[in-house]
Amino acid sequence: MNVRLLNYTKNPDKVCAAAAQSCYSEKGAGELFDTTADDRAEKMITKVVGMGHLSVVEHAYFTFSVEGVSRSLTHQLVRHRIASYSQQSQRYVGMAKAEYVLPPSVAGDDGARMKYTQAMDAAWKAYRELAELVPKEDARYVLPNACHTNITVTMNARELWHMFRLRCCRRAQWEIRMMAWKMLEEAKKVAPILFENAGPGCFAGPCPEGEYSCGKPYRRGAMPSDDELLVESAKPRS
Ligand SMILES: Cc1cc2nc3c(=O)[nH]c(=O)nc-3n(C[C@H](O)[C@H](O)[C@H](O)COP(=O)(O)OP(=O)(O)OC[C@H]3O[C@@H](n4cnc5c(N)ncnc54)[C@H](O)[C@@H]3O)c2cc1C
Repeated sequence: MNVRLLNYTKNPDKVCAAAAQSCYSEKGAGELFDTTADDRAEKMITKVVGMGHLSVVEHAYFTFSVEGVSRSLTHQLVRHRIASYSQQSQRYVGMAKAEYVLPPSVAGDDGARMKYTQAMDAAWKAYRELAELVPKEDARYVLPNACHTNITVTMNARELWHMFRLRCCRRAQWEIRMMAWKMLEEAKKVAPILFENAGPGCFAGPCPEGEYSCGKPYRRGAMPSDDELLVESAKPRS
């Protein structure tokens, strides 16, 4: 999986802070943007976000390229509606090369891995044969969820916060969880104030999953390693 931040609103922290301040000031956001110091911007964002005045962080946009992930992941990702997406087409791009995601649970079990790779080989064999007979757009129906895909996603900071809350959580599937943490890591580099406290629901207080809680809250602000992320999603506690 490759997650790259392609572009973002210039000075995202300051833009949102100036917008927030302009609600309570006689001055316009233009003057506030020019005169607001970083520590003041930090206080302003922390204050308004804490109050739930979240519309001010909608002024900052972030565009990511997410590459080499499964269609299972993108199917989950596009459920987040306040976003823009562009996904590699299986109608126009041939899929003759068998490129697919191998879940860690499958990779770690010899029997499962053999069954899985046999199924992938069979699917791609059928795809290549069908692509000789019918258009690619129809041959692709035999391809699995595991099939590699690339997607470009643009979200504003408010939607990213929401997506991180749900998808950095251990209850989210390992693949989308890994993508979400990588996106958060990238976003934090360019907007450290906006995303300082962003992350799974357990960063903000008691687990919002209630009886489904995994019981293992993440340490606030800490970025888990890839090894920690490559684990199955947490099952509800019995
Ligand atoms: C662990 C986990 C398990 C899941 N399991 C399933 C499952 O089994 N089956 C399934 O179908 N889905 C499942 N989902 C997907 C989930 O139900 C949501 O579709 C997905 O997380 C998108 O979140 P959202 O709808 O809150 O927000 P987004 O689409 O990201 O929207 C953000 C917010 O905008 C507001 N909003 C957006 N659209 C509307 C609207 N039309 N009306 C009112 N308010 C709106 C809401 O406040 C919403 O929270 C799962 C998600 C997670 C994280």
